[in-house]
Amino acid sequence: MNDIRKKNYSDVYRLIYQERRISKSRIASSLEMSLPTVTQHLSTLETEQLIEKQGQIASGIGRKAAAYIIRPEVRVSVGVEILPDHITAVVLNLYGMVIGEKKAQLPFSEKDEYFASLRDLVYELLQDSHISDDAVLGAGIGIQGLVSEDGQRILYGKILDCTGLTIHPLSQRLSFPVRLIHDAECAAELELWRNPELADVIYLSLGVHLGGAVIMHGQIQRGRTGRTGTVEHMTLVKGGRPCYCGKPGCMESYCSVDALLEEGEHLSDFFSQLRQGASRHVRRWTEYLDYIAMALNNLHMVLDCMIILGGHIAPYLTRQDIDVLFSKLQDRTAFPEEENFIRIGTQENNTVASGAAIPFIRTFLETI
Ligand SMILES: [Zn+2]
Repeated sequence: MNDIRKKNYSDVYRLIYQERRISKSRIASSLEMSLPTVTQHLSTLETEQLIEKQGQIASGIGRKAAAYIIRPEVRVSVGVEILPDHITAVVLNLYGMVIGEKKAQLPFSEKDEYFASLRDLVYELLQDSHISDDAVLGAGIGIQGLVSEDGQRILYGKILDCTGLTIHPLSQRLSFPVRLIHDAECAAELELWRNPELADVIYLSLGVHLGGAVIMHGQIQRGRTGRTGTVEHMTLVKGGRPCYCGKPGCMESYCSVDALLEEGEHLSDFFSQLRQGASRHVRRWTEYLDYIAMALNNLHMVLDCMIILGGHIAPYLTRQDIDVLFSKLQDRTAFPEEENFIRIGTQENNTVASGAAIPFIRTFLETI
């Protein structure tokens, strides 16, 4: 295809994608293309099985016309979250909807058996979701660690003790592209996908471990060495609780889910007790929110923008929690504001696994 034909072909596909259902004449008028040109591209896209006709829709000239839709499951993306003791894998269609999910207890290790089990889980997931391997655009592996820009290597992985790990043991076992992605970036990716209007945001992933991301002009910022947004190691308390990084008093040790929960406790149990008013849980929650308020106030001094709280804790947060947090922040800050700039992030489960799948979908839509 020459450049103009390629552009028209892409524009037709993207318009159908965006509108979800659209007639041929609307495509022609929206893109200012001739009907024969649109017909030609629709026919190519149908042959490639990227789109199909589905029912009818009111057309511009009053009569009903065939409606075109994209086939959202003709290409899919896989996302995996690796945690110390288990993995979650999801498969997303082209609209970023989760169409399959699998979890397994699998203690992390750098041994061959681990990667073989991970591979088996991904293929089982695809089989259960009735997806063939060649429909998979790629797999993103969300992991607790800083990752090289090309997604091939862990630059800093103290939690899993996997600094220097490469994607190779996995990429040689899977028949599609694979890349590693910092878990906090995965969660921020999903947030951006679900809310594409977001422009400037400090994103905090209140997960088992704490993570952060800075979004400017709708783009996640990586910085000089990929460390932008690693707020978890900002010192919150001088000489405070130890952090896995080896230093005392990091935000991680006060604002992560790990810091909130007691040994062996689950988030769902904690919140169930908290919402029933159990005094011990209320006390811990209040203290936790005090630290979060202190951290958010510091961050907001650096970047005066909206703050989104996501991660494993997000599904449990309520509007009232955010109001309490904001009022604590108002008490601390040198610059009280009228409007609450704290938001709860997307409240779905598996934000890291789902977010790990997003970049492949994004690239497909940008390059089709
Ligand atoms: Zn630290």
